[in-house]
Amino acid sequence: MKRLSKTALVFLATGVSAFSSVKNVIYFIGDGLGPSQRQITEYYKTEVLGQDGKLAMNSMPALGITTTHAADTLITDSAAAGTALATGFKTNNGMISMLPSGEKLKSLTDIAKNKDMKTGIITSTRLTHATPAVFVTTNSSRANEAEMAEDFVKANIDFYAGGGYRFFVPKTGEFKSSRKDEKNVVKDLENNGYKTFIGEGSSKNLLSYTPKSNEKVFAALTNSHLPYEIDRVKDNSTPSLAELTRKGIEVLSKENNKGFFLMVEGGRIDHASHAQDAVGTIMDTIAFDDAINVALEFYKNDPENTLIVVAADHETGGMGLGYGNNYSLNLEALKNIKLSVEDKLQKAYKGNKEEYFSYLDKELGLNNLTVVEKESIEKAIKAEDNKDTTAINNSYGGYAPTAISVAHIISQRAGLQWTSFAHTATQVPLSATGKTSENFVGFKDNTDVAKEIANSMGGKL
Ligand SMILES: [Zn+2]
Repeated sequence: MKRLSKTALVFLATGVSAFSSVKNVIYFIGDGLGPSQRQITEYYKTEVLGQDGKLAMNSMPALGITTTHAADTLITDSAAAGTALATGFKTNNGMISMLPSGEKLKSLTDIAKNKDMKTGIITSTRLTHATPAVFVTTNSSRANEAEMAEDFVKANIDFYAGGGYRFFVPKTGEFKSSRKDEKNVVKDLENNGYKTFIGEGSSKNLLSYTPKSNEKVFAALTNSHLPYEIDRVKDNSTPSLAELTRKGIEVLSKENNKGFFLMVEGGRIDHASHAQDAVGTIMDTIAFDDAINVALEFYKNDPENTLIVVAADHETGGMGLGYGNNYSLNLEALKNIKLSVEDKLQKAYKGNKEEYFSYLDKELGLNNLTVVEKESIEKAIKAEDNKDTTAINNSYGGYAPTAISVAHIISQRAGLQWTSFAHTATQVPLSATGKTSENFVGFKDNTDVAKEIANSMGGKL
């Protein structure tokens, strides 16, 4: 006869499970947060900012590694990877919580709702973007954002915060819409018990909002994504990911004995790495880690009932910490960079070469360009002036050539190099702390992360 473990004997003797489910789960997903992104951020904080560089996510007791591949390709997109992390099933790139066959999948928010837990979704991207969407709805294509926005009403999530009001407001009206119809999803949300916060102007109201029992929150603060952290800190026109996380926890934990499930996405790490923007990547990773620290404050008050998991959907950009034949990084070269490649640097070249070089000097401290660096910028200017689409797509990933050529110079001066304008197939780190965190140790498939979280909540996907 097979010997039974002590736990199993207790189970048999008492007739109840020795395992009690976790009450509060806070699930962080760093979009594009590969091992290099995590490590360079620690080095930058230490060497450039002169701070204790250790990231909260790198200090957790449980550490693992996960695969990222999709059902149909070894290089996943955020829809397939998000589906794996939310539902425990692999699917094809582009699909939202749906199997390749079209079968709809249950996600962790469904498990939480079945347990009468409150639920929350926070992201720095549009709320209808792939990673948040996989926790809210199902769809055959991530591109159907207007359609998915309507599903936010019936999903009945208690707290939504992020960007992308353009899919929630009608075609004509106060706010700029990307809908083709006059459907007012914001009104539908309000009619279903949501307090809504729309547009940058609502940021302060959201942060000063005191949750009322049974009131749900929907905040879409920008037309598209929230700003890159590197740009946001200049005027604080929108809250940081940490501030949104603090408000989310406040709303979800108020007068609530059943616990909550909250997903927080650091969504713009990915966008910065697509644009091969080293400092943009680092600043959004810091913002993500700051949000994790807010969750850790909550955890410290209730460690017996709380689980925090930090996962990533995939790596982006093939960020390499090392370049050429050097055994050194020179992070000082990143010190003067205070703007994003995609949103700011891309708009800087306006057709005048001399003006552009003086902009680079003034804004980025690039006043000592080598002959080779200058040549690479001139080549980019030529491609941009000539609207050379082949060069723009092949050599500059579809971005403005001038911006990418400068991004490369900045990276290479720091000793960094990128292999891709897309995602890569590399494994990504996984961290956890709190109740059941030991189940997140080891080499795991990305689908296992969702399954383990479901188990910890006492449910099954
Ligand atoms: Zn991406």
